[in-house]
Formats: sequence, structure tokens, C-alpha cells
Amino acid sequence: IFTLITIGAVNAQKKPYLDKTKPTEERIDLLMKQMTLEEKVGQMNQYNGFWEVTGPAPTAGNAELKYKHLRAGLVGSMLSVRGVKEVKAVQKIAVEETRLGIPLIIGFDVIHGYKTLSPIPLAEAASWDMEAIKKSAQVAAAEASAVGINWTFGPNVDVSHDARWGRVMEGAGEDAYLGSKVAIARVTGFQGDTRADLLKVNTIAACAKHFAAYGFAEAGKEYNTVDISNSRLYNEVLPPFHAAAEAGVRTFMNSFNILNGVPATGNAFLQRDILKGKWNFDGFVVSDWASVKEMIIHGYAKDGADAAQKAITAGSDMDMESYMYVAELAKLVKEGKVKEALVDDAVRRILRVKFELGLFDDPYKYCDEKREKATIGNKANNDGVLDMAKKSIVLLKNDSNLLPLKKSGQKIALIGALANDKNSPLGSWRIASDDNTAVSVLEGMQQYKGNQLTFEKGADLTIGKTAFIEELVFNTTDKSGFEAAKKVAAAADVVVMVLGEHGFQSGEGRSRTNLDLPGVQQELLEAIYKVNPNVVLVLNNGRPLALPWAAEHIPAIVEAWHLGTQTGNAVAQVLYGDYNPSGKLPMSFPRNVGQVPIYYNNYSTGRPTNGEGNVFWSHYTDVEKTPQFPFGFGLSYTSFEYKNLKLDKSTIALGAAVNVSVDVTNTGNFDGKEVVQLYIHDVVASLARPVKELKGFELVDLKKGETKTVTLTLTDKELGFFDNNGNYLVEPGTFKIMMGGSSDKGLESSFEIK
Ligand code: BGC
Repeated sequence: IFTLITIGAVNAQKKPYLDKTKPTEERIDLLMKQMTLEEKVGQMNQYNGFWEVTGPAPTAGNAELKYKHLRAGLVGSMLSVRGVKEVKAVQKIAVEETRLGIPLIIGFDVIHGYKTLSPIPLAEAASWDMEAIKKSAQVAAAEASAVGINWTFGPNVDVSHDARWGRVMEGAGEDAYLGSKVAIARVTGFQGDTRADLLKVNTIAACAKHFAAYGFAEAGKEYNTVDISNSRLYNEVLPPFHAAAEAGVRTFMNSFNILNGVPATGNAFLQRDILKGKWNFDGFVVSDWASVKEMIIHGYAKDGADAAQKAITAGSDMDMESYMYVAELAKLVKEGKVKEALVDDAVRRILRVKFELGLFDDPYKYCDEKREKATIGNKANNDGVLDMAKKSIVLLKNDSNLLPLKKSGQKIALIGALANDKNSPLGSWRIASDDNTAVSVLEGMQQYKGNQLTFEKGADLTIGKTAFIEELVFNTTDKSGFEAAKKVAAAADVVVMVLGEHGFQSGEGRSRTNLDLPGVQQELLEAIYKVNPNVVLVLNNGRPLALPWAAEHIPAIVEAWHLGTQTGNAVAQVLYGDYNPSGKLPMSFPRNVGQVPIYYNNYSTGRPTNGEGNVFWSHYTDVEKTPQFPFGFGLSYTSFEYKNLKLDKSTIALGAAVNVSVDVTNTGNFDGKEVVQLYIHDVVASLARPVKELKGFELVDLKKGETKTVTLTLTDKELGFFDNNGNYLVEPGTFKIMMGGSSDKGLESSFEIK
């Protein structure tokens, strides 16, 4: 005991920043006073950790250099280190072998769960249920924090209008307002409601990414050039980031793309003027993977030194895996090319988050093997993701009430390779989860024993490898299973077909030019429909699909995305009516690819809104102008009626609020939930405004026959917009409003701002 006390006392003397009773900023001062320039730069260096410290020899590239840097105190963070044992090992080096013992912050892409997977983020957004989304992030944080991770690279808050872009699966869809609410739910789910909550052992720091405009890659092609207006930037791209910042998100990640010719990583306008200036953000910005170095390839920096100088000058605080800061920054400071104050500011931000997480007080707080064992995949987490999965399902069509299925006496044929797939439903971005751990739809449906269930795959979806990074090879020729599938279909009362995209068809690097059913699935669908038209199509996909034939012919369509670990249970409960679906699309589903980008909050073209014999209106000559399924759309097993839209005032003063209310009645035969949506249109403004903008919503529970009055309030925050210089304006004039259960129709009224 005596020696311990002595060591403690010496530590306190040598490392006064370890004194918990001191305020964070003072602890940072005390620590920074002791840091060499090289050690400061080290904090700004992040390495990927696909290398085993506890294993035999290092395998991945540069592993030896990384070890060397880690031991020298030249690494501030590592990403993708897996499991308590590994995290403990690297943390031990940082804390016990380096001069100052500064703990690492351990990052990981916890995008929709760690091992127990919730639905892909786009699917979760379809729930419009912010409590559920927050809980889902809490489940993810509980698991991640139990394996040593204390920082997730999420949420992805990129708004996108382009279904071809594979990363729409990671975001919340096409709308900045819904996207902002989802961003807040996710940030507070990961981190807790207050900054103090970060100290808890089951919360982790979040990261709003990718800053900014990454979702507007031209033609939806991954990593492509972004060229957008200021209006779009301020009104559609930035609001979810701002919402995340206001909710206290501790980190931001910049993006690979350029904006007005300047790569986001070197973009002082985004990172310094807006994020750290206007928004007063006091956390830190991490680059995207090697994006500091990539400024050389962009043609924006001539070499590594130039790239490092431009990145830090522009406000990128941490360099993810491009070696540029650790190689160049100290030299640049010594040569007088970069002011040390810039380095100090970046380091202060990084240390601040480490102190807030409590890493200095207990560097191993996230490394508890017992908690790891008790937490990963436990019942509570599985219940949590199942709840989220049910809430994410969207009923797109249900003609003649084919759904829900009866619980007994029905002969059901289940068809499609995806119905028996335990891997694909896990979706993209699942670095830590084991393969084949989803409950398949077949397994889910087998639990309902009252019916006769026969499964036939019909055809394989893929014939190639399905590993994360590898391209998938689809079955485009083998239809040898069609006959067997047709046979069971013909003998069945109802056919359930599970078709769609493979889980790894969306995500990073997964853009498509087609939005159809890959492989021979469309042919299979049509062949089955011919022998039995009572088809329920269950879709698996990570983006909106364009399925005009199915939309026209198939009587029932269920959008089941990639729902994660509990997929089969969630789908079965919905199909059998144990859960009444209430999801609404967070992104428009086009009729064909040529309509993309198609989104609900477009601008008026100025031309007549419909043809009426005149070809000079904005349309395509070969397809209807509307989407197949609009934003905000989704059915239920029951029906809802909207009545008595009322405003508490018809005129308000600038700065005042108006309450909008509507009576919603459940007029069908099931208890259910409805997402009541409020849209506005600023009729005349100093800059033309979209024809419709979502500005409020509420998820209401309604028993059979029940009526509830839903009141939503419009304030300054909802009624204004950003001009082209980023100034927020609320202007007098007429505002139209619409309230209903989808973006394409509802009850309408209007009011004036005087
Ligand atoms: C992605 C980021 C991700 C990072 C680390 C990048 O390629 O764009 O979203 O967080 O890799 O895995």
C-alpha cells in the first residue's frame, strides 16, 4: 500500500493533469505544457488497427512503423481495433509505455450496431420514431463501449437525392428536416443527453459525417465531384450537421469530395468559418480515410507537406491513416510555415474529448471482459433491434387486404434466395458482426405453425463471393429452380417472395446505375405471378428501387430493407399481423432510373404544372411525372382519416408562432400508428422556395375507432430559410400548409406573416 501511495503521489506531482478535481480546460493546460511539439502532432495522428497486438507477428502494412509510433507517443487514436483484448493491448502501450501516458481514443464504424445489428440507418429513418432510433443508438453504444470502443464514426447525416448512391443506406434519406431530427436522436443515443453523460461507461462519442455535401456526388457515383448551389448547401446539406452540433456531437468527419474546387479536408470555409466559427463547435474534426493525402491526387496540394499544411490551416484536426501529419507537421511548424497555435488548437480539441470521456481517469474503463461477455448479443440488445426492425418496415401496397396473412388454414409458398439468407439481411457496414447471424425470413415464418409453409429459392441471387470489399457476382443465367418454385406457388393460397438487393450492394463504394431487382429475380417474380397472382413481395434493399412492373401488378409490397440481426422475426410479425406496420418512406421511390434525382421538395419550374394538351411543361414524355412511391408514404393494416385542419391564428407577426391542428381517426379494423406530417410552402419569398417542405411530424398511436387531435407548432425555426450567404431569413407573406400522412396529399390551409 505504501508503495502505491508513493507512486500515486509522484504521479500527481509529475502528471498534475491526472487530478480529477481540476476543471477539464485546466487539466488540458497542464498536460499541454509538458508536451513536445512531436507529441502534440502525435495526438493528431490516427492509425487503422487491422493488426493484432496480442497475436504473433504484425501482418498488415506498416504495422511495424505503427508500433514504433505508438510507443513513441506519436499516435492519438486508432480505429477498427476489435475486442477488449486488442484494445487493452494498444491502450496499455499508450498509457504505460509512453512518456506522458496519454490514452488513445478508439474509433470504429458503429453504423447500425456493433455485433447485434439494428436495421440499416435509412430503414430506421423510415420509422419516423425518434425514441426508437435513439434507443437503437443506445444499444449500439452499449455493445461498442463494452468491447473497448469509445468513439463511433456516426451518424452519417448526408442528405442525398440520389438512389444510385450506395451510401444512402447510411443516412436518413432525402430531407434535411427529418434528417436533422434523426441526427439528434442518434447523437443523443450514442453520447447521452448532456456532455456529462459521456463519462458513463455505456456511452461513446459520436461523429457527424461527411462534412460536407458528400451526398450530392454527381449522378450518384461514389466519390464523384460535387457541384451544388449555396442555396442547397445552406438549406439542405448543412442543417442536419448543425442539428448534430447543437445536440452536442463531439466530433465531425470531413469528406472526400471537393466543394467549389476545394477538397472538404482543406476547406476552411466549411471547417473554420462555419463549423468552428459560426457554430462554435469545440470538439474535433477527423479527416476521412487518407483524405489529407488525397488532396495531392485532387490536384490541390503539391506534396505531403503542402497537404498537411492545407489540412491543418483549414481546420482538420486529426489525420486518419494518411501519415501526413505525423510525417510533416512538426517540420512545418519548425520552418515557420504552420503556426504552433494551430497545432495547439487541434490538440486541445482532441484532448478535451478524451478528458470528457474519462479516459485519463480510467484508460481501461471500456475494457472490461466481463461486461463484454454480458453485453454482446444479450437479450435486451436483441429485443431492442427487433423493436427497431418492426418499426422500420413500410407497407407500400396492400390491395384487397392480402395482408396480414391468416394464422391458420393457409397454404403459403415462400420463394426467393433472400428468404433463406442469414447474411444479406445484416446489410452493409457490419465490420464486427459474424456472417450468417441474421434470423432469416424463412426462420421467422417457420415459427407460425398454423399454416403449411413451403420454401423454394427459385434461383440463386449471387454466384460469387460476398465478402465486404469484393464485388458481388450475380446469377444472370441459371433459372433451373424456376419450375420447382412455380409448382409450390401454384399449389399455394398466398405466395410470399423475398427479393431485392444483396446486403453488400449498398454502402461505401456501391453505386448502381440500375435500380431494378438484380439477377434473374424480375423474371422469377413475373413467372410466379403468372401461376399465382396472390403475391406478397417482401423487398430487401439498401436504397429506393424502381420497380414499375411490381408496383402495377403485385397486390402486396412490403419494404423490409436490410433489417439486421432480427430480420426474420420482424418480417414474420408484420406479415402475420402481430405488428401493424407504420413506417413511411424517408426517400422517394422513382418509377425508373431516368427520374433520378427525384425528391418531394423540388422547386417550381415556373412552367404550367400539368400538360393539358401543352407539351411545354416540365415532364418526361415517357413516364409519369410523380415518383412511384413518394416521400412520407406508407400504409397500415388500418386506415386513417384526417379532418378539421385548424390554425389558431390566420395572421401572425414576424417572430410569432402558429399552432396547426388536425383530427386523425383510426377508421379501420386494427389498432395502429400514423405519422402525421406537416408541410409548408412559402408562396412568395426573396428567393424561390420549394413547393413543399416538411416542418413537423408526430407519430400517434390510435386504437380502432379512436380520434386524436394532433397539434404541431410552426415557429421562426421552421418558417425561415437561408439566403445565398448563409443568413437565416423569415419573411412576411403567405404560407400554405398541408397536413396528412404523406408528402403527396393532405388537408390544406394557409396563414400570413405580417
Ligand atoms: C468512410 C468513412 C469511414 C472511414 C473509416 C471511409 O472510407 O468514408 O465513412 O468512417 O472510412 O472506416
